[in-house]
Amino acid sequence: MSRLLLVSNRLPVTVKADKDGVSVVPSAGGLATGLRGPHEKSGGLWVGWPGDVSRLTPAQKASVEEQLAQQRCVPLYLSASEVSRFYEGYSNQVLWPLCHYLLERVPRQDRDWEVYRKVNERFADLVARHYQPGDTIWVHDYQLMLVPALLRERLPQARIGFFHHIPFPSSEIFRALPRRLELLRGLLGADLIGFHTLSYVRHFASTLMQLLGLEKVGDHVDQDGRQVRIGAFPMGIDAKAFEELVRQPAVLEEVRVHRENAAEQRLVLGVDRLDYTKGIPRRLLAVQRLLEREPAWRGKLRFVQVAVPSRTAVEDYATYRERVNELVGRINSLYGSVHNVPIHYLYRSLNQKQLAALYRAADVMLVTPVRDGMNLVAKEFCASRPDEDGVLVLSELAGAADELDEALLVNPFDVEGMADALEAALEMPAEERKRRMRALRTRVIDCDVHCWVNSFLSALQATPTAPPRVK
Ligand code: UDP
Repeated sequence: MSRLLLVSNRLPVTVKADKDGVSVVPSAGGLATGLRGPHEKSGGLWVGWPGDVSRLTPAQKASVEEQLAQQRCVPLYLSASEVSRFYEGYSNQVLWPLCHYLLERVPRQDRDWEVYRKVNERFADLVARHYQPGDTIWVHDYQLMLVPALLRERLPQARIGFFHHIPFPSSEIFRALPRRLELLRGLLGADLIGFHTLSYVRHFASTLMQLLGLEKVGDHVDQDGRQVRIGAFPMGIDAKAFEELVRQPAVLEEVRVHRENAAEQRLVLGVDRLDYTKGIPRRLLAVQRLLEREPAWRGKLRFVQVAVPSRTAVEDYATYRERVNELVGRINSLYGSVHNVPIHYLYRSLNQKQLAALYRAADVMLVTPVRDGMNLVAKEFCASRPDEDGVLVLSELAGAADELDEALLVNPFDVEGMADALEAALEMPAEERKRRMRALRTRVIDCDVHCWVNSFLSALQATPTAPPRVK
């Protein structure tokens, strides 16, 4: 196995400072879990931002550097202005809404492009400095779309992969970006570009055709005398970890408490970052609609919605939060009683054990984003159900819907249709729940995060290396 250089906006660690000093602890995210094995085995490096360390003393910072080095992480520090313009600005206010088809959320002025480009250059310089001949480089996500081509300039012979973790939109949307050509050319520096689904691959291919006149033949396009392969690699989760969690006595005890609190009620669950792509308002309206049109369900539903604070410095997220708060208040005042409210809204993040307990306890899981690259929560719910029960209601506009077609698929814009699906889920006979969950679990367990990493890396290893340049 060649040495792997992983490159992502965030390092897979969190820096924690308290009175006893600073520690660098591994994060629990999907990417971190999936890539930990290959990172350790290959003896390679992971390049990325360790988060805000501006409040650390010089001694604490030195300790962080030492701990990062032990974990073979190479930090790229972002200044406050870079965080605001590269990360919150261009990445999260331009690329994020655009790739999720929300053009009207893109600011009218393209002010942060230069900083985005410069930070991508800083990443490329740092990776190039650590590169050794024979290394394989794997760059992740929309914050770093220019890095593949910037690396290709610096390292013509390197093997470079890129994975796009969010949707790649229709060419009719992508073409609206003033910097569309720079971004496409940035990606084309890679030998392999991976997406979650075949439709993202198709959108990308037609964008290349329309904007650059490049035709995809078989699985690749020709660019500057090189072949750039393009493929679908649906990301999975660490299914085994969730299965193990829900067998732990402490987690099972928490499941019991959830069930007990729900008493005679049915437990419906939503778990999302508080992001406007997650479709939380229409989901709440679907719950309201069901209660409105089916009085028999009033007082019988307990909808727990976990909303993880996210990108709080971005104004659109604050407005969205207000909207969700209002809706929750309105529905609870309409259908609540002195004893109970239908919606239990938690604006906080939970750890994996708490999440697993909720997944395991729920009767119905509502995953209804208006767009989502993949959606790992849907898969985590299935992995947490060794009892082969629980119904998944899933948006057809989440990448996960391509694989999880035994879920009840819904159009997240159709409130009435989602109310129908919720009702169908609540009334589904045990036998059908079992049949569906069994099929979902087979898929989630077979195609886990390790399988995703292996299939991407094997495809990347199989790409021909760039021919030497003729001087
Ligand atoms: N998650 C978490 N704590 C929470 C809620 C969610 O750790 O309170 C995790 C969840 O387990 C999942 C991830 O956050 O792995 C969300 O991934 P997903 O693909 O569903 O959505 P994203 O947030 O990446 O858009």
